[in-house]
Amino acid sequence: MKFVAFYHEIFEKHKAEAHPESPKRVKAIISELMKIEELEIIKPKKANKRILENVHAKEYIDKVFELCKKAKEFGKEVYLDPDTYINEFTCEASLYAIGSIIQGIDLALKKKINSFFAIVRPPGHHAGIYGNALNAPTQGFCIFDNVAIGASYLIEKKFNRILILDIDAHHGNGTQEIFYKTNKVFYISLHQDPSTIYPNTGFVNEIGEFEGKGYNLNIPLPIRSGDDVYRKAFEEIINPIVEKYKPKFILVSLGFDSHRSEFLTMLNLTINSFELVFKFLKNIQEERKIPIGFVLEGGYNENVLREGSKILAKIFLERRYKIKEIPTKSEDFILSQSKETFDKIKSLLEGIWF
Ligand SMILES: [Zn+2]
Repeated sequence: MKFVAFYHEIFEKHKAEAHPESPKRVKAIISELMKIEELEIIKPKKANKRILENVHAKEYIDKVFELCKKAKEFGKEVYLDPDTYINEFTCEASLYAIGSIIQGIDLALKKKINSFFAIVRPPGHHAGIYGNALNAPTQGFCIFDNVAIGASYLIEKKFNRILILDIDAHHGNGTQEIFYKTNKVFYISLHQDPSTIYPNTGFVNEIGEFEGKGYNLNIPLPIRSGDDVYRKAFEEIINPIVEKYKPKFILVSLGFDSHRSEFLTMLNLTINSFELVFKFLKNIQEERKIPIGFVLEGGYNENVLREGSKILAKIFLERRYKIKEIPTKSEDFILSQSKETFDKIKSLLEGIWF
């Protein structure tokens, strides 16, 4: 059983002038991971365009493909909204991004691997059914919801009890919207307090609807939350819920932008929090013998992308590594604010998970 990575050079061709969501991000990751001899890096196959319709409206898919054509004629990127660009390679890159996840899932179901990291662009978790999700101001650099499409493929394969864990610093409003009314996918997101950051969704009371009630969990973190708050969120909320839910497949929306050095966000986490998440998942995998797929979302600091990805690979390949950063401690008022949040979550989910 092994851990592999997926990467295609087309992910470097989706680009725009002066934009933080740039090819440098994946180049940083892949150059670091290529140094790990034991890691197999697979060039993915392209997904069939039809699979996009599993989660997105046909009108939206057509609009994106139209804009890819327009960008080609124009010879330059065009903007879907003030944040989100599309160039002539965006549609092709998206299909290879989704292809990476489909291939990862297929290999895991054939028991050839047990975990994978899809190092893909463009990112996806803000893209909803019609593109823009839950009245967010923009799509936040996202085109198609890669992780949600992966989960929809698992549903096609008759899977239930799929867990999506979203650790990007921003709330995955697209993924939440897509699975809000179903219990086949449990969406858990840890993110910076949405009253302080884009996309301004992801509050604790958004717990899902109808069959999906109790299968959407938001854990907003106060600004400047340190590694201690993050650990508590796992110990007090995520761990007990996952123990009861008993997932059969886990997909991770892996954003590295919750690190304290990120200029787009205001959390105070270090690489130690990523290590916590990766170890937590590795343990679940060993106990439950289930596959885990990591899919790149945000993260704009190249050093963090390099370090974080390296630690992910080393933990899953069971190799040694060192972390230089010291874990951060939160100020008292942040600890009490987060305690209030955790208590509120427990009372909202009382009778379902607590
Ligand atoms: Zn983000």
